[in-house]
Amino acid sequence: MVEYNTRTGTRFGLHGGQYVPETLMNEINRLEKAYEFYKNDPEFNAELDALNRDYSGRPSLLYYAEKMTRDLGGAKIYFKREDLNHTGSHKINNVLGQCLLAKKMGKTRVIAETGAGQHGVATATAAALMGLECEIFMGKEDTIRQALNVYRMELLGATVHPVTSGTMVLKDAVNETMREWTNRCADTHYVLGTVMGPHPFPMMVRDFQAVISREARAQILEKEGKLPALVTACVGGGSNSMGMFYHFIPDAGVKLVGCEAGGKGIETEKHAASINRGEVGIFHGMKSYFCQDENGQIAPVYSISAGLDYPGIGPEHAFLYDSGRAQYVAITDEEAVCAFEYLARTEGIICAIESAHAVAYVQKVAGSMSPDEIIICCLSGRGDKDVAAIARYRGGDLHE
Ligand SMILES: *Cc1c(COP(=O)(O)O)cnc(C)c1O
Repeated sequence: MVEYNTRTGTRFGLHGGQYVPETLMNEINRLEKAYEFYKNDPEFNAELDALNRDYSGRPSLLYYAEKMTRDLGGAKIYFKREDLNHTGSHKINNVLGQCLLAKKMGKTRVIAETGAGQHGVATATAAALMGLECEIFMGKEDTIRQALNVYRMELLGATVHPVTSGTMVLKDAVNETMREWTNRCADTHYVLGTVMGPHPFPMMVRDFQAVISREARAQILEKEGKLPALVTACVGGGSNSMGMFYHFIPDAGVKLVGCEAGGKGIETEKHAASINRGEVGIFHGMKSYFCQDENGQIAPVYSISAGLDYPGIGPEHAFLYDSGRAQYVAITDEEAVCAFEYLARTEGIICAIESAHAVAYVQKVAGSMSPDEIIICCLSGRGDKDVAAIARYRGGDLHE
């Protein structure tokens, strides 16, 4: 396969870069150097492969959804089953890589931001496994909405700090974790949860998530003897989609589509569609597309899915969009909930509400494609965590 490198220096096209306080630059440079070394170190890669295989359960299945294919009457539909990983989503791929790197760098403590708590739980899991001290920063609003995940992190031995600045949600948690890292980096690594932030994070997280497309590309060639016509995934910060896209980028015939959170509709103010509705800006250490108000302030975002509720998108996606290599569509709450229910009834799979955004896109397009075309859709996580919210959305009450 051709190596297709979208990156020059710290940037992807215009996007990316390292917009961080001077006091953090030394640590960012140390991290970049360490990663450049370990990513080519056979021992590091062998250890990471072993963790992915023996702890996480990789390779994940590439599952042929025969019933859904028949029902929609068009392209052949496959799901990449990241929902079957240990801890129930693709997030484990990234945290195992970063925690292993932190250990190699001699760090004894990891910190991380979390929104709904999925990344916090994954980080606490990897920290427990590897004997690292772990502290998680979470918007106070989110600690109330996601009390169960706070308790999970504590069970795993982590300390959770409720963040009371700003609107007390994910973007404030990122600010606070950056601040903590700036204050204390000698023994501490910041395990960023998605393909965002200053270089090298977008590249490093993408590399750890690229295991998804490395496997999927080989699996589809083995099963079908040809490449898919369409590869799709949901986009919050963009890590499962970047991982799902990466090894297909050089394959010009493979269409790449990211599904953003359209919330209550992108014509309203209640969405998190950074590409469809955002503008170029600089925030959280990077240049990329962000949802902003008319003064360039970061706008409040909304989605039924907590994992997609971030006002920006990783810089490599911004570049894939600018260059026309990938397209980004917005999927509303209603479409995602219908897809969540449809997949459960049709295939017996309860997927994460985030992943359901990509499933909804498959529902829209599969029927107009030909039966000799293939779709691969990433199921980024399982949906147990969302069942109560879906019931509420439908007007039910589970007496939680
Ligand atoms: C966190 C999360 C997402 C969104 O994050 P990305 O970085 O865009 O992948 C999507 N799906 C699930 C299940 C998640 O937990």
